[in-house]
Amino acid sequence: MEKMQFKAESQRLLDLMINSIYTHREIFLREIISNASDAIDKLAYQALTDSSLNVNKDELKITITRAKDARILTVSDNGIGMTREEMEENLGTICKSGSLSFKQAMEKSDDIDIIGQFGVGFYSAFMVASSVTVISKKAGQEDAWKWVSDGADGYTIEKCEREYCGTDVIMTLKPDTDDEKYSEYLDEYEIRSLVKKYSDYIRYPIVMEVEKSRKKEDSPEDKPEYETYTELETLNSMVPIWQRSKKDVTDEEYETFYREKFFDYNKPLRIIHTSAEGSVSFKALLYIPSKAPYDFYTKDFKRGLQLYSSGVMIMENCEDLLPEHFRFVRGIVDSQDLSLNISREMLQHNRQLTVIARNIEKKIKSELKAMLENDREKYEEFYNAFGLQLKYGTVSEYGAHKESCQDLLLYYSHKQGKLISLKEYVEAMPEGQEKIYFAPGENREHLSKLPQVELLANKGYDVLLFTEEVDEFVPQTLMTYMEKKFCNITTEDLGLQSDEEKKQAEEKAEELKGFITFVKESLGDQVKEVRLSQNLGSYPAAMVPEAGMSFEMEKYMKRVNPEFAYPVGRVLELNPEHEAVQTLQRVMTEDPVLAKDYAQLLCCQAQLMAQLPLDDPFAYSELVCKLMK
Ligand code: ADP
Repeated sequence: MEKMQFKAESQRLLDLMINSIYTHREIFLREIISNASDAIDKLAYQALTDSSLNVNKDELKITITRAKDARILTVSDNGIGMTREEMEENLGTICKSGSLSFKQAMEKSDDIDIIGQFGVGFYSAFMVASSVTVISKKAGQEDAWKWVSDGADGYTIEKCEREYCGTDVIMTLKPDTDDEKYSEYLDEYEIRSLVKKYSDYIRYPIVMEVEKSRKKEDSPEDKPEYETYTELETLNSMVPIWQRSKKDVTDEEYETFYREKFFDYNKPLRIIHTSAEGSVSFKALLYIPSKAPYDFYTKDFKRGLQLYSSGVMIMENCEDLLPEHFRFVRGIVDSQDLSLNISREMLQHNRQLTVIARNIEKKIKSELKAMLENDREKYEEFYNAFGLQLKYGTVSEYGAHKESCQDLLLYYSHKQGKLISLKEYVEAMPEGQEKIYFAPGENREHLSKLPQVELLANKGYDVLLFTEEVDEFVPQTLMTYMEKKFCNITTEDLGLQSDEEKKQAEEKAEELKGFITFVKESLGDQVKEVRLSQNLGSYPAAMVPEAGMSFEMEKYMKRVNPEFAYPVGRVLELNPEHEAVQTLQRVMTEDPVLAKDYAQLLCCQAQLMAQLPLDDPFAYSELVCKLMK
C-alpha cells in the first residue's frame, strides 16, 4: 500500500513530540478523549435535524479498553466518525483550529513545556505510542476506514469494517525504558486519575472495564474467600463545571478548564460563575483574561461565548451573547430554555437569547466595577489589556453603550499622578471648579508642561491627560459626566475669567489692536488668527487650533481617514504679560524689520511646543543664527 506523507509543518511538530524528553506525556489521553467528546457533540447536534441518524442519547459514550499483553490502549467513541477524505484532511495535518495558538507560541519560544499548556490534539498520541491506528465510520455512511501510522514516515489508509458509526483510536504503547514506563498508561489506577484530572467534566460517560473483588457467595462468613470480576465503570463525574455549584469547584479546576477550553495559558484575571432563574434560566461561566490575545485589536478576533442547550453545544461562538465593548470576555452559557433545533438565523432574533445577553452584560459590568472599587491593582492590569476596548465601546454607535462603559474608564490624572476614574475626578473637584478639564496630546510629559495645565494646577484644578487617539472622542460623545461639562484645555475657553477680567481682557485687546495686526501681517498665511490670551502662564506664546477639531484629531484623521482630513486653522496666542511679547511690542516701533523676525521666532516656538512640525525648519535655523549675530 502506498504511504502518504504528513504535511511539512505537521512533520516538524510531530518530530518534536516524538523525540522530546517530555514530562507531560500524560496529556495525550485528555486530547484523545476530548476529540471523542467533540465527535459525539457533533453527532448529537446533527441528530437534532436529521432523524434518519437514529441516535439514542443515552448510549452516547467513550470507551477505554486495555490489552495489557499487547500493550494496546484504545479510546473508542460512538460519535460522528470520519470519511476517508476527512481522515486524510484531519489526521494528515497537525495544528489546525485550536492548535493554532500553540503553533504561534511555538514560533516565539523553544520551550518544550508549552506543549502541556495547549491542546495539541491527536498527534500527542505519538508521545506515548509507537504506532497509532484509527478506525472510523462516518454517521450515515456504509464504509469504514482504517488509518495507520507509526508517526515517522507517513500513514496508510484502507477500507475496513466497523459495525456502527464512531471512531477507535488504537495506540500501541512504546516499549518501556529505564526512565519511561509507558506501560503505566495501561494501569487502571493511572487511567482513572488521568481522567479525573483532565476529563472529569466531559459530558459523556467515559467507561472502562475495571477489576473488582467480591466475597465468594458460598464462602463462610468467618473465613471469607474472595474472587475477582470485571465491571464497566464510569470514570468521570460528567457534570460540566458550569453546572456544578460554585462552592464545589476549586480555583484550580476553573483555571484548568479555562486553559483547555480557550487556549490561553495566562491565568484569567477574574472568573464569573453565575446563574439566573426566572423567565429565562441559564448558567454562565465567564472569564476575564489577563492579557489581550495577539489579534485582539484586529478584525480577525471573533467575539462570542459558547452556547449550550442542556449540555449539547449548539454554537461555538455566539456573538449575540456578548456586546462588542465586552468582547474580551470568554466563556460558556448553558440554557435549557433554548430550543435545541433552533437555526442559527433564528437564534439572532431569539427573545430568550436577548434576555440572557442583557443579563450577562449587566453582570460583567458590575464585576468590573467591583474590581475597580475593591481591587485597583488587578483592575489596572485589566485596563492595561482592555481599556482601549472600553473607550471604543463608549464612543461607538454614537454613545449607545456609554452607560455600560463610562464608569469603567480610567485616565491619567496630572494632579494625582495616577490613573483615576471620571467619578473620582468629579468627586475630587475643589469648590468653584465647574468643568472636567482634559488635555489631548502624544505623551504625558509634554502635556504636563502645557501652560494651561500650569495655570489650572495653580488654582488646584486637576487635568486628565489624554494620550490615546480615541480619548478625545470620549468627551465628544459623553458631553457631560455627573452633570459636569468636559473642557479641552487646548482648544476651549477654560471658563476661569470673571466678567470683570473678561472686560479687562477686551480692553487690553482693543489697546493692542495695532500690535496684533502687525504680528498677523508679519506671519501671513502661517496662522489664521493672532490673539491675546490670559491662559499662557509663564509662556510667551502658544499655537492653538481654531474652534472645533484639535491638532491630535487632525493627525489622527490624516492617518486613518486621509480623504476627509483637512488642516485645522492655527491660531497664535500671545501672552501680553510676558517679557518677550512686551519686547516685541517695543521693537515693533523701533525696528519693524527686526520685529518681523521676532514675531516669526515666537510663532515657530509656539508651533514646536504644540508638537507640530515646522513648515520650513531650514528657514527657522537661519533665522535663529541671524538673530544671534
Ligand atoms: P483539533 O481537535 O484541535 O481540531 P486534532 O489534531 O485533535 O485537532 O484533531 C484533528 C481533527 O480530526 C479534529 O478536528 C476532528 O475533525 C478529527 N478527529 C479527531 N479525532 C476524532 C474522533 N474521535 N472522531 C471524529 N473526528 C475526529
